[in-house]
Amino acid sequence: MSEDRYIYDLSEGDASMRSLLGGKGANIAEMAKAGLPVPDLFTVTTTACVEAMNNNGEWPASLEGEVAEATKRLEERTGRKLGASEKPLLLSVRSGAVHSMPGMMDTVLNLGISDDSVKALAEESGNERFAWDSYRRFIQMYGEVVEGVPAHLYEDALSALKHERGVEEDTDLTAEDLKGLVATYKEISNEELGGEWTSDPHEQLNRAINAVFKSWGNPRAEVYRRAHNIPASLGTAVNIQQMVFGNMGDTSATGVCFTRNPSTGENAVYGEFLVNAQGEDVVAGIRTPRPLDEMKDVLPEAYQQLVDTMHAMELHYKDMQDMEFTVENGKLYMLQTRNGKRTAAAALKIASDQVKEGVITQEEALMRIEPGQLDQLLHPAIPPDHGKEVIAQGLPASPGAAVGGVCFDADTAAQLGGKGEAVVLVRYETTPDDIHGVIVAQGILTAHGGMTSHAAVVARGMGKPCVAGAQGIKIDTENKTLTIGERVIKEGEVITLDGSEGKVYGEALDLIPPQINEDFLNVVQWADGVRRLGVRANADNFEDASKARELGAEGIGLCRTEHMFMAQDRLPAVRKMILAETPEQRAAALEEILPMQQSDFEGVFTAMKGLPVTVRLLDPPLHEFLPNLTEQSLLVQRLELEGGNAEELGEARETLAQVKRLHELNPMLGTRGCRLAMLYPEIPDMQARAIIRAALAVKEREGETVGVEIMIPLVALEQEIETQRGIVVAAVEDELAKAGAQLDYTVGTMIELPRAALIADRIAQHADFFSFGTNDLTQTAIGISRDDAENGFLTQYVMDRVLERNPFETIDVEGVGQLVEIGVEKGRGAKPKLKVGVCGEHGGDPDSVAFFNKVGLDYVSCSPFRVPIARFAAAKAVLQ
Ligand code: ADP
Ligand code: MG
Ligand code: MG
Repeated sequence: MSEDRYIYDLSEGDASMRSLLGGKGANIAEMAKAGLPVPDLFTVTTTACVEAMNNNGEWPASLEGEVAEATKRLEERTGRKLGASEKPLLLSVRSGAVHSMPGMMDTVLNLGISDDSVKALAEESGNERFAWDSYRRFIQMYGEVVEGVPAHLYEDALSALKHERGVEEDTDLTAEDLKGLVATYKEISNEELGGEWTSDPHEQLNRAINAVFKSWGNPRAEVYRRAHNIPASLGTAVNIQQMVFGNMGDTSATGVCFTRNPSTGENAVYGEFLVNAQGEDVVAGIRTPRPLDEMKDVLPEAYQQLVDTMHAMELHYKDMQDMEFTVENGKLYMLQTRNGKRTAAAALKIASDQVKEGVITQEEALMRIEPGQLDQLLHPAIPPDHGKEVIAQGLPASPGAAVGGVCFDADTAAQLGGKGEAVVLVRYETTPDDIHGVIVAQGILTAHGGMTSHAAVVARGMGKPCVAGAQGIKIDTENKTLTIGERVIKEGEVITLDGSEGKVYGEALDLIPPQINEDFLNVVQWADGVRRLGVRANADNFEDASKARELGAEGIGLCRTEHMFMAQDRLPAVRKMILAETPEQRAAALEEILPMQQSDFEGVFTAMKGLPVTVRLLDPPLHEFLPNLTEQSLLVQRLELEGGNAEELGEARETLAQVKRLHELNPMLGTRGCRLAMLYPEIPDMQARAIIRAALAVKEREGETVGVEIMIPLVALEQEIETQRGIVVAAVEDELAKAGAQLDYTVGTMIELPRAALIADRIAQHADFFSFGTNDLTQTAIGISRDDAENGFLTQYVMDRVLERNPFETIDVEGVGQLVEIGVEKGRGAKPKLKVGVCGEHGGDPDSVAFFNKVGLDYVSCSPFRVPIARFAAAKAVLQ
């Protein structure tokens, strides 16, 4: 065989060939290599899919021939023939991308069954009913999945037949019934597809493979890829595998299992199975599966072999495995293994335990955990002893708590969720088609399905709370109601889910903030041993600063001072300052504000004593402290109409004039940051004094104080930083001299305008440190206003892939990132020891942290709750 082939047989693959064979194909080959019982197969590579995709769906020229040859080889190996009337070969056609991906085409089972082969199947199995049941399942699956026949046509025919026979369950239908159903199904297919329907298994196989290729591009797969940052260029492999039958009778079964508990991480086998069942019966939630434990009694030998296999595979992959198996007449077959999806808590526990067990190293544990999982643990939960009534009980399918308005379909959920509303998606059972609704929902509630149902698996992967298979709830999607006992809940009514307990509450509960357990702390401490970047927090009061310190912050990277100005009790003094007509008046007003600022700083400094704190001088435009222009105009109008109190009117008019004078068309690019301080040098003077007095007071009281770092915002010009530095240093020195004290302090600047980054070498002459304000830098580099953009075109841009990511969440490496790189390089070029950090939300975004690590920043700073994530992400950045 030449190396540019598109097909590999089972014996040719192994786990390292994942990108070519997909995760499923590579892992099945690996199991076969390890000597485990695996049905034989061949795999069509991802390359074939990619080439077809890039060529309008046209297959590579040699592929069809290769499929025919591989089929022949498989026929030889198994001693069976596709479509034959004796010893027929039946196949499953399974999509398998590099990353396990819900949203791809559903597996087609029993391909190869035909009017000829069905009889042979009946004879071989000695079970006619089984044979015809397999046939009708195949037509339905193939028709639906490959040919796009509407599912309900088959469902309706099945229901009608059951009704006619007066039976409840599919299993109550006889072989004769099913024979009739096959005929009906064929009619349905023929009618829907006209001449398109084919009963030739070889052609069906080609069409099924092609349908898998096409499913790579379907919308639900695309939505999933976008949510998980999976490149569209990878393509999917297709596995064509010999069927084994879990539905041959009472000594056959099918099931799924996890080598550890995927919810809690507990080291115990976990899973579900169904006797006499095939395919996705277990996960589809049609019959309620039994806990795996019970298989011990029903199929003891297969159970023992399964448990041994689970242990072996976990050690082989050094990670928790999620496996699928089928027992055919007492014989175990493994159908799939992969690293199992797990809750965040389970991920941490498993990693932590495996380090203790000596299976993996601390660094391997770090590599295995995703920053998003830590994030989930930082999610809210239901408070204990709340005394609220549980209105429905289901399975605790994915932990955490969610509060939101009920939504009955994914489109509505996506629409409301997209607007920022909290929604809970309520479905009978989710399917991959619901994925866009699941992504935006706070939580998922289903009426049906088990712990391994689609809803449960997807929710766990996304860290969303899910209650699955809730008993006694009725969902009416037509009238959009959820009925639980007497209670009828309409769309939009708020409920609360407790995914950890499987409970539903018919009202909004106050959730408690998340708990951080020992495994969590372990992992973050290991990260500290690896990371190079420092991690600070953004905080501007005692509580936040204390929280940040508790979560491991090594200082404050951004202490904003504007909140201090905006507090209600301070506004009168602040307004006096703004409205002052002379520097003296302004200074007097600032005298009033100074002690207030000082006491705020004392709070932050007390919480952070011994660590550095960067205080940013006043940043936003002054008019933000003044009444709104429209409101003030209306007030004046009203007072004029009323013709009452002249003094009141006079004051209102004067304020209006001031507001108008200070009004700016584009405040974001107006008189803010150091521009304000250039106009009113009294402001930075006062702030510098307040900072120093606070630092000295804390030193006096606590015996130690913080490393004072005073930061000048929105510098674009060398002259600005030079002047401002002068003002700050003079004030500081004056304060220190008056107090007869000594204190180390530094003065630095934000780099948040492109010009500042470009002339960073000159700015560095006057700065002891830089802190990149990547939010403003993003706004000014791309030329977009965040608030306007996120409410409008930016969302569209990301949907349409004009932009890959929201640049306010993850730094735009190509553009904004380049400015950061230039700033670092030029700044350090002029002043090698220049300390450089980043403040702003990017500091808590793992992908951005990786970039900041790469360009050599000294630290990142983020909101207190993201500190553990930043610590962790900084370690991963080193390991990657
Ligand atoms: P998914 O990626 O959605 O898990 P799979 O390809 O694993 O899809 O197939 C779904 C189910 O179909 C499996 O859980 C298994 O029960 C059944 N199945 C797949 N291949 C075979 C086979 N060769 N024999 C019997 N059952 C199979
Ligand atoms: Mg599937
Ligand atoms: Mg599977």
